[in-house]
Amino acid sequence: MYKIMTPGPTQVAETVRTARSLPCTNPDLDETFVEFYRETCKTISRLLHTKYETLILGGEGILGLEAACASLTEPGDKVLVLDNGIYGKGFADFVSLYGGIPELYTVDNRNPINVTLLEEFLKKSHDYKYATLVHGDTPSGMRNDIASICPLLKRYGILTVVDSVSAMFGEEILVDDMQIDLLCGGSQKVVSAPPGLTFVTVSADAKKSINERKTPIASFYANLKVFEHYYEEKWFPYTMPISDIYGLRAAIDNIEADKDILERHAVIAAATRRAITEAGLCLYLESGFSNTVTVFEVPDGVTDKDILKAMKEHHGILLAGSFGYLAGKVIRIGHMGENANVSDMAEVFGALDKVFAELGVSLKTSLKETFISSLPESYRL
Ligand SMILES: *Cc1c(COP(=O)(O)O)cnc(C)c1O
Repeated sequence: MYKIMTPGPTQVAETVRTARSLPCTNPDLDETFVEFYRETCKTISRLLHTKYETLILGGEGILGLEAACASLTEPGDKVLVLDNGIYGKGFADFVSLYGGIPELYTVDNRNPINVTLLEEFLKKSHDYKYATLVHGDTPSGMRNDIASICPLLKRYGILTVVDSVSAMFGEEILVDDMQIDLLCGGSQKVVSAPPGLTFVTVSADAKKSINERKTPIASFYANLKVFEHYYEEKWFPYTMPISDIYGLRAAIDNIEADKDILERHAVIAAATRRAITEAGLCLYLESGFSNTVTVFEVPDGVTDKDILKAMKEHHGILLAGSFGYLAGKVIRIGHMGENANVSDMAEVFGALDKVFAELGVSLKTSLKETFISSLPESYRL
């Protein structure tokens, strides 16, 4: 068994694994399951500080993103796609698939979206039905400032679809204050349940826009409207994956009980960046560092595969490389959810110290020592 320190899937707690093995029921005939589903949705809404409904869909994170775009897009709709990373740009495909016209707003991918420049752009160009953006762009470790961007778009009457699959619960999200219309999350990142579920919060404005469509949503599965009356009718549009939802509930309950979760993510991320830079390695980003994943450049003289293979085979730890324009260039450490603990991170850095030494890469300082000494007293082992 490897220790998975990747930016999703993450480690899964025993309470979650146990919950997934509970006896099963028939989710369409047993009304207690409908209540259980709705309670789980309500808990997610409460943790995201929204009065609006959350829907859990049976499918991986990508389904949430596609369902959000499919539900809003009518043929010919103009959509602003904010792009400073791989997932950011990827939204354009979902928009096109459902007949929309994506307009890419492509900016520097080593810094978060600059809100002042975006505002300048919007002054001249704001005729969009909705905009898409990524909260945490996992391949680069980017965190965009959704608290400023979503209200700005709203002032121009533009709805927002936000991908927070890898940031949700590791970064603060106040859905109502931030005026986010459709916010997408997934089970296998900070939430720390296995892959297989996605959840989407739906604002009143998003609901209104979906209800006022002139054409039907061009998908049955990637569709938020099919859940419209599930509670009153006690009938799901398709059979819900019960065991996945039992596991998700246990994971969400763990998050709710974990009062320091946001602070811990921030503390571990800061100490991680410090350890990497003091050792003489380079962070990929210049600014906009997420608290859930850290990305550093592969040093000269070695490849990402050398590092990943030695970590795996000599230390039993899985880290990740990246993909797209970052393939082969960087290493990613996922310190999110169950992975965001000092003991596992110290183990990662202890192993990386040894791996770099074996590979002949000399570091200025020990990653593990700097990591630990950069933590506040109360976090040290
Ligand atoms: C993980 C992730 C998703 C979900 O999709 P994958 O199939 O795991 O790629 C979506 N968006 C972001 C930003 C993610 O990190």
